Amino acid sequence: MKQVISLRDLQEMLRNGKDARSLPADALLTPSARDFLREIETSGSARGGAGNGARAGHPVTPITSRSSKADIEAFFNSPAIHALKLQICEIGRRLWQRAYVDGNGGNIAIRVGEDIALCTPTLVSKGFMKPADMCLVDLEGNQLAGTMKRTSEILMHLQIMKRQPRAVASVHCHPPYATAFAVAGVEPPTCMIPEFEVFASVAIAPYRTPGTPEMGALVADLVDKHNTILMANHGVVTWSHNNVEDAYFKMEILEAYCRTVLVASQLGKPVNTMTPAQLQDLLKIKQNLGIPDPRFGLKECELCDNDEWRPGVTCAVPERSGAPGSSSAAPDPEAEALVQAITDQIMSGSK
Ligand SMILES: [Zn+2]
Repeated sequence: MKQVISLRDLQEMLRNGKDARSLPADALLTPSARDFLREIETSGSARGGAGNGARAGHPVTPITSRSSKADIEAFFNSPAIHALKLQICEIGRRLWQRAYVDGNGGNIAIRVGEDIALCTPTLVSKGFMKPADMCLVDLEGNQLAGTMKRTSEILMHLQIMKRQPRAVASVHCHPPYATAFAVAGVEPPTCMIPEFEVFASVAIAPYRTPGTPEMGALVADLVDKHNTILMANHGVVTWSHNNVEDAYFKMEILEAYCRTVLVASQLGKPVNTMTPAQLQDLLKIKQNLGIPDPRFGLKECELCDNDEWRPGVTCAVPERSGAPGSSSAAPDPEAEALVQAITDQIMSGSK
């Protein structure tokens, strides 16, 4: 079967230092991939590490933090990196439009080499960034290129990338519904919506001051088995082994889920959850997609009723406590039976 190559595939190849012209002869290119290939061929940078004098067929030394200043600068200004800068601007725009960021909050990072990453600048609204605003840093957070200062929260992204070698991109923001769960210290309950089960693996990291190495370390401790970390009293960070848009998708999926669960819990009816067998089916899909989850390998009977692997999570929305004067709280059958029994006793005694 012929291989279909998309724009994303080409960008992935460049990021991994591969030559975009070494495609199978019969590969089919999508229209955007064809345009992109034409553009980089005319600029002579069809290979990752673009701008460092690479010519087709010649070995290229990938750019690292130890490359010369001139090579780093050329790489930073290459068409391949420009395409990734545009992607970051686009994801920033989506974050702002969906009200997942406020003020200058939120940040985005893409790994572009063995020990280097492209990231957003500090003190800028994520909705209105330009490619020229982007920064290049090494994995310790030292800035290598870019005129604006890199985000102070980059340390967390870099610690994720160091601890989770599969992480190629990460997104951090403050989506209100998911952040509300993070403020309450409640992990969203599971077993309700397939997309959430398949694409997100959630855990909560304790609060530390944003931008500190301590905060990054607490998040990094969780990224082996989770790709979506609720940061207590702060926000959310996601990482992807595919690309930056995929990291952003996890944010949309999490936020929509938290919102839906919250609304469902207010409808006055117990919510329906999927069965362990149904969940097992979704986990198989998840494993095939290469997405981590601490539940892989658990028996079906353990999937929905095991508070050791994910403390506090059960396959049901926590029962509403029923605030005083609230008539919308779901009735508690046991309490109702008790009230009935007492009433009956009083009635029979008064006869
Ligand atoms: Zn933040």
